[in-house]
Amino acid sequence: MSPTLTNGFGSKARVDWDSIRLDFPLISGNDLVYFDNAASSQKPKAMLQAMENMVEHSYANVHRGVHTLSQEATDQYEAARKTVARFINAADDAEVVFTSGTTDSINTIAFSFGEAHIQPGDEILISGMEHHANIVPWQLMAQRKGAFIKVIPVLENGSLNLESLDSLMGPKTKLLSLVWVSNSLGTVNPIPYIIQKAHAYGIPVMVDAAQAAPHMPIDVQAIDCDFLAFSAHKMGGPTGLGILYGKRALFENLPPYRGGGDMIDRVTFEKTTFQGLPFRFEAGTPHILGAVAFAAVLNYLSGIGMRQIEERERQLSHSLRCQLKADFPEIQLLGTAPDSVSVVSFLVKGHHPMDVGVLLDNQKIAVRTGHHCCQPLMDRFGIHGTVRASLAFYNTEQEIARFLLALRKTIRLLR
Ligand code: PLP
Repeated sequence: MSPTLTNGFGSKARVDWDSIRLDFPLISGNDLVYFDNAASSQKPKAMLQAMENMVEHSYANVHRGVHTLSQEATDQYEAARKTVARFINAADDAEVVFTSGTTDSINTIAFSFGEAHIQPGDEILISGMEHHANIVPWQLMAQRKGAFIKVIPVLENGSLNLESLDSLMGPKTKLLSLVWVSNSLGTVNPIPYIIQKAHAYGIPVMVDAAQAAPHMPIDVQAIDCDFLAFSAHKMGGPTGLGILYGKRALFENLPPYRGGGDMIDRVTFEKTTFQGLPFRFEAGTPHILGAVAFAAVLNYLSGIGMRQIEERERQLSHSLRCQLKADFPEIQLLGTAPDSVSVVSFLVKGHHPMDVGVLLDNQKIAVRTGHHCCQPLMDRFGIHGTVRASLAFYNTEQEIARFLLALRKTIRLLR
């Protein structure tokens, strides 16, 4: 089965969301309200079918064998890369590297870009709403290279203080690495505007799209980012697989992050020369089954249409926010930026988020509680954590109603 080429935008005018839900065996088969999609999303049958198909008909290691089966597996793996490139509108398939996830993608650039371009005294700009995956790799690199981290502040409503950009960007700023959609607040940052601004200062931009790629069309050429990272498992794909996009001009001159098989041109005991893009950054046997299954998921999502998915998820999360605001005075919403998607974060005043999460779980509602790997953001608001409901397109208004009933009961029990 070779994945068809398709981009993420889709064109279907009407989607039958009830029948879409049946594509997800875990949630269609029981009465669990799964609102923990930002942590990891449920898997469509298309993913399982693609894995099964490869296991039954065309599995072997890639790029190595002269035998037919290995060539078939290689063709499918490279077709998967093409599908990803098309999904994010990359200019060239070679700009798409398979990694193990967003964390791995960011670490790759932090290491490789750091080795190539960072001198003592240089600065890396991030924001106050980053996931730890977009903080710690830069800190490790900064410690190694004698560089500094600067932080774009977060306003009270959970949006970025864009007025601070001019004072934070300058000749010492060597890279901006920024989250597109906050996993804690749901805030959608104005990425195209910020990239344009950074480029005006000559600063390349890495985008953490872990929470953007599942919820909206991504066009890397339109936003003109230099690097972009996301994880398959947050958008219906398998765990252990991620994407690192890099614009060729900058990417192809970076040194490798990991060494091993497949990424080399020639090895002697004295010296090794490396392959070009994308193999230079794919040391060792890749997640072959994962990549092929992810391509099938991307085709499935494109079949629905990423614009339709975005619209549906904006509607659902807007509805949840409005009802919480209107009917629950006991609740404090965290993050009320004008633009948000999927994530609704809140506190039940005077109560620990974990108590709320456990009582909701007793009523078959799955939400996430805690700091969501954003401790500096929690410090900014002077809290330890929140309750986070994160919605996907397969969720429904009926589930929101059940969630609100369960929350009402939870608040009564806590009193
Ligand atoms: N960035 C953001 C915004 C996230 O939400 C997450 C995961 O929750 C990550 C990075 C890390 O993703 P992964 O654990 O898949 O590498």
